[in-house]
Amino acid sequence: MNKRWTISKINEFVEKNSDSTLLSTEFNGFSQKLFFKCSCGNNFDKTFTKFKNNNQRKCDVCQPPKTSR
Ligand SMILES: [Zn+2]
Repeated sequence: MNKRWTISKINEFVEKNSDSTLLSTEFNGFSQKLFFKCSCGNNFDKTFTKFKNNNQRKCDVCQPPKTSR
């Protein structure tokens, strides 16, 4: 049941599921870092796996990496 992701599907996913915008125009696999523009204006990069599965859908400023608490 592998879903085949293309850059246009990813773009659609990003639009529907986040406030960020996809800047990358190529998708070469899940280990590739994609570039996004956060709603605050910052650019950030992240693999699509993290973006999608770990809910990391904003830049590190708006959504700081989890600190131990
Ligand atoms: Zn941000």
